Amino acid sequence: MKNSSECLPEIFGSYVFNEETMKERLSEASFNAWKKCTTDGTPLNLDTANEIAQAMKLWAMEKGATHYTHWFQPMTDVTAEKHDSFIHPIGGGSIDMEFSGKELIKGEPDASSFPSGGLRATFEARGYTAWDPTSFAFVKDNSLYIPTIFLSYSGQALDKKTPLLRSMEAVSKQSIRILRLFGDTETKKVTAQCGPEQEYFLVDKELYKQREDLCMTGRTLFGNKPPRGQELEDHYFGQIKPRVAAYMEDLDNELWKLGVPSKTKHNEVAPSQHEMAPVFSDANTACDSNQLVMDMMKKVADRHGFVCLLHEKPYAGVNGSGKHDNWSLGTDTGKNLLKPGSTPSQNAQFLLFLAAFVKGVDEYQETLRCTVASAGNDHRLGAQEAPPAIISIFLGDELEAVVESIIKGTHYKDGAKKSLRIGVDVLPTISQDTTDRNRTSPMAFTGNKFEFRMLGSSQSISGPNIALNTIMAEELREFADKLEKSKNFGKDLDTLIKKTFTEHQRIIFNGNGYDESWVAEAEKRGLANLISTADALPHYASKKSVDLYVKNGVYTKQEMTARANIHAEVYDARIAIEARTMLDMARREIMPAVSSYAGDLSVRIANLKAAGCVTAYETDTSKEVAVLTDTIMKDTQKLSKDMEKVPADPWKAMKFYHDTVIPDMAKVRESADALELLVDKKYWPFPVYADLLFSE
Ligand code: ADP
Ligand code: MG
Repeated sequence: MKNSSECLPEIFGSYVFNEETMKERLSEASFNAWKKCTTDGTPLNLDTANEIAQAMKLWAMEKGATHYTHWFQPMTDVTAEKHDSFIHPIGGGSIDMEFSGKELIKGEPDASSFPSGGLRATFEARGYTAWDPTSFAFVKDNSLYIPTIFLSYSGQALDKKTPLLRSMEAVSKQSIRILRLFGDTETKKVTAQCGPEQEYFLVDKELYKQREDLCMTGRTLFGNKPPRGQELEDHYFGQIKPRVAAYMEDLDNELWKLGVPSKTKHNEVAPSQHEMAPVFSDANTACDSNQLVMDMMKKVADRHGFVCLLHEKPYAGVNGSGKHDNWSLGTDTGKNLLKPGSTPSQNAQFLLFLAAFVKGVDEYQETLRCTVASAGNDHRLGAQEAPPAIISIFLGDELEAVVESIIKGTHYKDGAKKSLRIGVDVLPTISQDTTDRNRTSPMAFTGNKFEFRMLGSSQSISGPNIALNTIMAEELREFADKLEKSKNFGKDLDTLIKKTFTEHQRIIFNGNGYDESWVAEAEKRGLANLISTADALPHYASKKSVDLYVKNGVYTKQEMTARANIHAEVYDARIAIEARTMLDMARREIMPAVSSYAGDLSVRIANLKAAGCVTAYETDTSKEVAVLTDTIMKDTQKLSKDMEKVPADPWKAMKFYHDTVIPDMAKVRESADALELLVDKKYWPFPVYADLLFSE
């Protein structure tokens, strides 16, 4: 028998209808037509689609599939699927297994129960899904999964994939204009590439079930930090416990079968927190894969008696979970446009792409901030945790010195002597390890890519990637418009790069992002500090954002307003669920438990008094419990009353939740957590942090 490392090349992608399989199973003409469709967007004719559908069906049936589904990404953070079997009755009680090109290309799920943010009221109730031939179909749970986009009948995007594909198109088009200026006549396509690192927590399933908050909201609403948290810093990269190792192995196997190149796994900072990172791919595939990763993490956990928590902050007081979105631009000729080159001309090109990125991030800080704003992520960004809510770029010492030298006209190494001549001088080697030391930066240059570190662990990565692609497209377009008209390319390029870095230098920050002085410094620089979702989301459909996306053909104005509304509604719903869960647990679990403890304690006190041996422990505890019980009662009453006052308008509600309900919830928690520390553990109604965090 082969061991697993020998099997890996066979296992990898074995449940994916990938290029190799297509080449094997399609006629040459159909394979070439599909290939052309993915590279130039040439539509497939029905005959080809029929042939592909037929081949897909036979292949999927060999893998055990009885159904197929158009798999799509509605405007939630999860995917949607509706399964149809291949069954086609042919009379006489018999069936055929059928799947046509038409069924492959188009589906018509009822759109009415997916969030549309108002698009549905104005347009058609029904939506349709359309096959995305640039992402491979696969078999999972006995179904053939066909990645699709999801649109309303009037063509408005109802999903996260459509705008992502549009943004990839936009950035490709503008990048090519720039490449042509540098004499590149070969590159036909530039692809946004992405490698998302996924953090998660595991918790024992039996314990999880005893916590209504975890079940309802994905995070704990009550609980004190355990006596031992992450102080010893022994969990990060620590040895992986056997039960977790078995989970990770199983997860890797499932992901490999589905063609997800899971590469790295390790323990994270907090107890029972872990991370998985795949090898990067094109942004479209990376988004699909990350959805599969999140899905698989939960499924596989169940088999191992765990629950996988993808919430940004399952536990107060220990690190939360994020997702690092590594992003770069690659050409179809195999070049990375964010990699400093080794010749003066390559350097000049690199510096122009870098300038575009720096300018874009500075100009569209609020737009980027909105893509990572959610109720869950509010516990990380702008709270005591990394990264801060202020967007800045970390370039590393070497590259920052280069930028300075360009701005000041001085030599980057030895000060005043001579300035770096763009297009003439060679850049110093930018070594990767010196660039990646600053872990506090929300947007770090790491040698040949940017790492956007503000994403929440549970969110779809499409929004941030759509923003990065579009911002880059916009800036490159502006540069290309100027430079294409230039009579003296070298000189104008020089001026443009220098001007851009000078005007947008404020966004570059190499210091410690957690330091309080940074907040004041950022304010002085005029950088946005949108601390919470309630602060950020009003910028989502600002004129500046709308102009950006509309101009680049990524969103229509209606699509943006719709999305902004959905984000506000989702925020409201999440806080409302948390508040209701909190009330439920306080009233039906915590207070009754505390009351029975207090009752038993008072009987004990009476007995001890009669015996003449009551101590301060009994009497003081009893008093403290009484005071806290009064407080928690008042606090729950206030929370409950305020919940009745939530305005109907989602935007007003968002503000109300943020300004009133969240502080109310903090009060309830404060008394409950104080009680947890006093009450006999036999009475406490659910497992505490020490149980949950050390349950692996
Ligand atoms: P770390 O950030 O933990 O030091 P790496 O920087 O090696 O690890 O990689 C993190 C992620 O970035 C991985 O998913 C990797 O595939 C991805 N990555 C590496 N190069 C690129 C690139 N050029 N573009 C996008 N993602 C990349
Ligand atoms: Mg990283």
